[in-house]
Amino acid sequence: MIKASTLKREDAIFSQVVPAGDYLLQTVDSGQTCRILDLEGNQAADTLFYCRHDISERYSAMDTIREQGNVYLTAGSVLRSNLGNPMLTISADTCGRHDTLGGACATESNTVRYALDKRCMHACRDSWLLALAAHQELGLSKRDITHNINFFMNVPITPAGGLMFADGISAPGKYVELTATMDVIVLISNCPQLNNPCNGHNPTPIEFLLWQ
Ligand SMILES: [Zn+2]
Repeated sequence: MIKASTLKREDAIFSQVVPAGDYLLQTVDSGQTCRILDLEGNQAADTLFYCRHDISERYSAMDTIREQGNVYLTAGSVLRSNLGNPMLTISADTCGRHDTLGGACATESNTVRYALDKRCMHACRDSWLLALAAHQELGLSKRDITHNINFFMNVPITPAGGLMFADGISAPGKYVELTATMDVIVLISNCPQLNNPCNGHNPTPIEFLLWQ
């Protein structure tokens, strides 16, 4: 569902451009709204969410999908934790559909899906591990990397029930906004994937903005 935001850029209390292949780790307080902006279009933002006061509570794709009865995420979707609690709500969305089934790219999956020599290519999972290594005070480690959302990524389900990594439906300037219903840690990998069309074979920067 397409729903435009009423928030103005000049009112944002924080903004940061995240280059392709880089990560962003940011806290968002309950009641605050953040925006992920696809600056040049057709770019996947692989994102994890954790409860700030208990990192064992984190985003759960299956709880989210089950409760909303829909495998795609868009405006109105309530992102739920592994305890079934609402973490954030998608409060605006000009792209219209986001994936939470495809998972994030990793060197291992690149090897299985594409070719053995893809193993050395940078992947989202590496970016997350770099972020966790640089922020050991959070107490998060490799075992905490679980379900994620691929904002802007187009992963249609085929009639046979399979998943397809299709060309993107996002475009320059499209965005998704999330209003937090608990204090969360947001960890985004701006996907460096070059082996499928999720980034239009040309990974580009995104921008993260935050409103009080
Ligand atoms: Zn990726």
